[in-house]
This record gives sequence, C-alpha cells and structure tokens, in this order.
Amino acid sequence: MALAFPAAHVNDLVIKEGILLKMSQQKKKISPRNYKERLFILKSHALYYYEYDKGKKGAKKGNVLIERICCVERVQPEDNSPVERQFPFQIVHDEFILYVFAKDDDSRNDWLEVLKQVIRNNTKLLTKYHRGFWTDGKFLCCGQAAKTAPGCTVLNTERNSPEVNRTPPHKPLPPIPPAEDTERTALPPISEDRRSSVKMVVARYDYKADGPHELNLLKGTKYHIIENDSNQWCKIRDTQGTCSGADTVQHISLKSVRVEDYPWYVGNLSRVRAEQLLREKGKEGSFVVRDSSQKGMYTVSLFSQALDELNGTVRHYLVNVSADGKYYLAQKHLFDSIPQMIQYHQLNGAGLLTRLRHPAITNDNKAPSVYGEWELCRDEITLLQELGSGQFGVVQLAVWKGKYKVAIKMVKEGSMSSDEFIEEAQAMMKLRHPKLVTLHGVCTDMFPIYIVTEFMSNGCLLDYLKNHGKELQPSQLLDMCLDVCDGMTYLEREQFIHRDLAARNCLVDQDLTVKVSDFGMARYVLDDQYTSSVGTKFPVKWAAPEVLNYTRFSSKSDVWAFGVLMWEVYTLGKKPYELYDNAQVAEMVSQGHRLYRPQLATAELYQVFGSCWHELPEERPSFQQLFELLRAFQDE
Ligand code: ADP
Repeated sequence: MALAFPAAHVNDLVIKEGILLKMSQQKKKISPRNYKERLFILKSHALYYYEYDKGKKGAKKGNVLIERICCVERVQPEDNSPVERQFPFQIVHDEFILYVFAKDDDSRNDWLEVLKQVIRNNTKLLTKYHRGFWTDGKFLCCGQAAKTAPGCTVLNTERNSPEVNRTPPHKPLPPIPPAEDTERTALPPISEDRRSSVKMVVARYDYKADGPHELNLLKGTKYHIIENDSNQWCKIRDTQGTCSGADTVQHISLKSVRVEDYPWYVGNLSRVRAEQLLREKGKEGSFVVRDSSQKGMYTVSLFSQALDELNGTVRHYLVNVSADGKYYLAQKHLFDSIPQMIQYHQLNGAGLLTRLRHPAITNDNKAPSVYGEWELCRDEITLLQELGSGQFGVVQLAVWKGKYKVAIKMVKEGSMSSDEFIEEAQAMMKLRHPKLVTLHGVCTDMFPIYIVTEFMSNGCLLDYLKNHGKELQPSQLLDMCLDVCDGMTYLEREQFIHRDLAARNCLVDQDLTVKVSDFGMARYVLDDQYTSSVGTKFPVKWAAPEVLNYTRFSSKSDVWAFGVLMWEVYTLGKKPYELYDNAQVAEMVSQGHRLYRPQLATAELYQVFGSCWHELPEERPSFQQLFELLRAFQDE
C-alpha cells in the first residue's frame, strides 16, 4: 500500500495527521510506562504530537525531526496487551525509540507507509531493528540491555510495502485472463509512456511466426511499432532490434501499454478531486488512475466500504517501479506495464482495500476512447439537438450506435478545405489524452461532413467562466488551467501545434474537467478573415509576436496563447485588451505592452503566466515546465 502526498518542499504542509496512543519514551534507564492519546501531525520536516482532549487539539507535547529518524517499523504486541495496544509501531530516532499504537492494522500501515516515504532519503537508516519492545531495561526480542544495541532482526527494505513481511515476495501470479474486447486486435502506434515517444505495445497472446518475415511473439512482452498502416497489421520490432520482414507487416494481437488509452486514467486530478469523484460514485471498488504529485509517477485512488460501511474510505496507492522497471502496487506482483498491473488488480485485491472493480469514468454515456475505424457510418448517428455553432457550421448533440452521447460538428460545404482535413484526420485521431476532446471519427461520404467528438456537457470554457465563474473556488480555477496545460503538454510532446488555443476552444465536462478542443483545426478553415493575421477574425489577441509578424507557429506560440487563456480564466471570461482593436493590440504588444494582473490571480501566479509572454519564443517556458510550476500552486 502506498500513499501519495504532495511534494514536501513547504515545511508547513500537513502530510498526515491522526490520533495515536503514545507510550512514554522511557528516557531514563528504568522509568514507569504510561500511555496517552496524542494528536500526531506529520509535516515534511518533523512529526509533532499534541495533547488531545474531547476532540480538541491541545498543547504541543513534543516533536521528532524527520532527519533524525533512522527506522520506522512494526513492533510485536506484548502478550495479553489490551485491544488498544494491538497495533504498535516504533519510530527510532537519535538514541530513543518512540512507541505508538494505531487503532487498527490499516491505520498502522498508513502511518508506516507515509513515514517510510518521508524518511527514505535520510542518511543513517538502520538495516536491522528490534521487533520486540524495550521494556524494563532490555529488549524483549533479544534480551540486549542497551537501548542503542544493534537490531536483531533484518529490516525489510521494501519501503512501500509493509505487507511484504507477511507475504512471500514474487509469489506466482494468478493468470491474467484475456481482455474482454477480443475483437480488437491492434492498437495505434503509441508511445510507451508519457515520458517517451517510443511507440510500444505488449503482446496479448503468444503468436507463432507465419514464415521468416514475421516475429514470434511472446505474451506480455513489449514490442516497438515501426509502422501501423491499418487496424490489424503493423510492422514491429522487438527490444533486441529484430524486425518483422522488410516489406511485410505482421498480424498481431497487441494491447496498448499507454495509460492514456484506458478509461480509468484521468490525468492530473488532485487528491481532493479524486476523492470527491469516487465518493460521488459511492460504488464499491470504483477507482481512477491519476498523475501522482511525484513527477512522472501515477497513483491509483480506490473507494471501498469495507472498513467504513457508512462513509466509505478512499485509499491512494502510489504505483511503484522496481529497480528493473516493473510496476507494482501494494504487494510485489510485478508487471511490464501499468495497464497489465491494473488488469491484474481488477481481478485480485492482492493487498488493496478491495479489487479495482469499476473505473469511475465521469460520464457513463461516453463512447470509449478507442482508436479504431475512423470513417463512421452516418446511419449509426441520431442527431438530437443543436449545441451551438462555430466556424464550420452547426454543432449538434447526437447519439452514436444507439448508446453513446457524442457531439457532431456538421461541416458545411465551402467552410473547410476538406480534402486536406480528411488526409490529416486519421493522424489527429491518434492524439488521445484525458485532457483532449476525443475525436471519435468522421463521416466524409457527403456534405455536411460530420466530425464526431466526445460530448462535453458543460459546453465551452469561455461561456462557462462567464456564466458560472463566480461560483468557482480559486483552486478550481487553477485546476482548469492545469487541465488545459496537461492536454497541451501532451500535444507539445507529440510535436503537435494547436494554433488557436483560447478559452473558446476548450470544453468543460460534467465534473468540470476542462479539455482542449479544435487542435490543429485552424489549418482547414476556408475564410481569409480568420486565417490571415490581418483578418478581422484572426485571433490576434492570443497571437505571439512571431505569429503576427512572420506567421511562425510553434509550441511556444501555443504557450503565449496559454498565458492569455489563463488570463481569461482568472478574469472569469473577460475579453483580453477589451478597449483595443486587433491592430492596436498588435502594435501595443510589439512595444512590450502586456495584459494586466487579474484580481483573482496572486502576484506569484501572474508571474508564471506572464512568463508565457516573453517576446522571444525560446525564453518562454515549455508546457511541461508550466505544468510543474502550476502544480506547485496546487500543492499549496
Ligand atoms: P468551431 O470550432 O467549429 O468554431 P466550436 O467547436 O467552437 O465550433 O463549437 C461551437 C459551440 O458548440 C461551442 O461553443 C460549444 O458550445 C458547442 N460545442 C462544440 N463542441 C462541443 C462538444 N464536444 N460538446 C459540447 N458542446 C460542444
């Protein structure tokens, strides 16, 4: 079991708090023992304890500096100890041992987990400890009479898995049954994970090569995709570099290793929002996988009523990575990819509060984000009602395949360079991320062309800010910006330029998640007033100087637009440079004028989004950097 908690760079951040029974520290050789209920508060640099009486925090009674702690471990309860002293653990620091008692094993595991995390970089961690109490001048486990006597039991160093003491590591795994959607034989070429651009997949079944041009495939093994021309055939290479034949492509059963392709992955969702979401669902075993507050890591958040039937409990498990790059959760069942690990825990609790039963996707009527056929059958779409209208025509709410709510952009003839769009659409469909509005497919057999996308029930971000902005908390405004930044970080990594990022081109989902929409679509607009930088409809107020002067688009010009979008969010949907027209704004910006600080944005935050408006593109932060900077505000 592993808890994720915010980066511990702010000393006052409370990482964990709770009531524990504390044994007197017996600082003298023989001293009477007593037990007191104390409120323990763990911060990044110290563990404090306070008097606690009638539900109220009292005077501070002491603290242990984190840097002084050299071991946290369970202790064997003494014979005949009362119920409240069944779950002891020890915090060894300096030459003392602080013994505390949790109310149950889960609570003890949680404390051990978090404490082991915070001390993990301490320099003098013990490798051996005493599993028995120090009492009446000696250790009950080994009888040694010096409190500083070397430990008698080798410490289990699995820092994230207190349970491993009781479970043999590497116990054989129950087999993973074949996935339900056996129809789906191949997935699009995709990157192995969010940090690399290598296109990698995992074989779902063993496959015997049909001739020398093919590779034998081993179930569970990773392969790189070199080309992927259709949904069923692709050219692959194994990790040793052996390729399937030069001109041939191989028919394989592959399953994506990329978390973005699964409905349970929700991207950057804060711990608080994850808990809200899971509690709203209130369903035993609802779970999500989200970005952890530790960079590049993931957390599984899980809801269960096993411990508290009335209110339920949400647990957050950090996805651990072993030294050889395998993934695991509570106990050391190792997997090549996170999807494989999740699939295993969907069937086996294996140390979790319960098994991962239901991905807590926010909209039950959403079409699955699966990349398959891109030309869809018009007859399978039933138009329901108009949602709005945009550059290409009307946008309609519709039902696809009789069950999925989708939005349809109905592209009228003459509004779009449709041949170019159709050519590109397939590539655009491969852009998949929880913070991008999913493109399900197109109907291009006649006009109006249908562009079928994920339906976002709260409509466009700009309208949402204008109509509901006042109801939003500052943390929600930040979450919205982070969502957009998250989606844009993905586009940046995929080297895809949006070209028209603005609040009007983002959409708000049922749970207020914001997703980036219309990426790359500006290229297909047939309207000079929109496409020419001196046109009346050109988004001059979101455009970087190099776009206005030389039509030079890049991820860094998207960053400029993102700064303006943040300004829109923090002004709750105001028009940028309201009193000026496009020509005046172009002139003002070239002279160094910038948007003012909105009242709702702190000076520190304004500094971050102001950095997006550096005259030189290379001096602006990347989306990846912005994401980290903004996330620090979220932690605070
Ligand atoms: P365009 O990009 O063609 O100019 P928009 O994407 O701005 O058009 O769509 C126009 C309006 O339709 C939006 O302001 C929004 O209210 C609504 N809309 C568009 N796409 C969706 C969607 N996927 N889900 C819900 N509403 C949408």
